[in-house]
Amino acid sequence: MDFLTQGLFRSSGVVLRRRISAEGDISLHLFLKGVGPVWVQAPGSARGRGRFGGATEPLTWGSFNLYKGPKHLYLKTIDVKDDMWTLRLDPEKLHSALEWNRMVSRYTCSGVAEDDVLILLYWTMRSLCEGANPLFLSWRLLWRWLYIRGEAPDLSKCEQCGVALKDAVYWSDSGFLCQNCSSNGGSSMIASKELRLLQAAAMLPRRNLISFSSQGAPSDGTEKAFWKTQIGRLKMILDRSC
Ligand SMILES: [Zn+2]
Repeated sequence: MDFLTQGLFRSSGVVLRRRISAEGDISLHLFLKGVGPVWVQAPGSARGRGRFGGATEPLTWGSFNLYKGPKHLYLKTIDVKDDMWTLRLDPEKLHSALEWNRMVSRYTCSGVAEDDVLILLYWTMRSLCEGANPLFLSWRLLWRWLYIRGEAPDLSKCEQCGVALKDAVYWSDSGFLCQNCSSNGGSSMIASKELRLLQAAAMLPRRNLISFSSQGAPSDGTEKAFWKTQIGRLKMILDRSC
């Protein structure tokens, strides 16, 4: 926290996590523009009716007025810009958005601003509010996050020989391989139709995500398991990159 100078400042961002102590003190893990992830304190704010109302709930986006003291960062006021209310009404959406918050909390470093990731997180949550499929969005968020870090698997070319990926492809530890470069078939094979879905979920402009979700959303357990496997693979890359 020493990277911040003492005094008042303002930044926009999101509440990632919230802790409330038995004494009614609130600690918030915020992800802020120009700052990155930071813990801020609001002593006594959860007592009685609560000074900030629902504005300290995780997933709340807003403008935060903060005071940097000698040891801690304190919350003064919150100007809520987007409370992502739709997500709170649907358990599946809520679960996905909170999982994204946990990942950002875990895979970003205190004092390192990652504004591209902040913007990505915002528009991923907005798309979830507007009806895009949570599994597509999880894959999209992770792939684009890795892309920002320069570690996203190439979705168009074989990782080893660079040939264009078109038929069935294979997953190595870090990317996609063509049939020639893959030494094993079996469970890591991805059919060309599935590859096209992965490419679309990662690359489509946001305005096309909703209609894409309504056409190709995974409907049965096997399809959902496929997406969960692919999401897990990207998580492993993110895990290694930290
Ligand atoms: Zn190859």
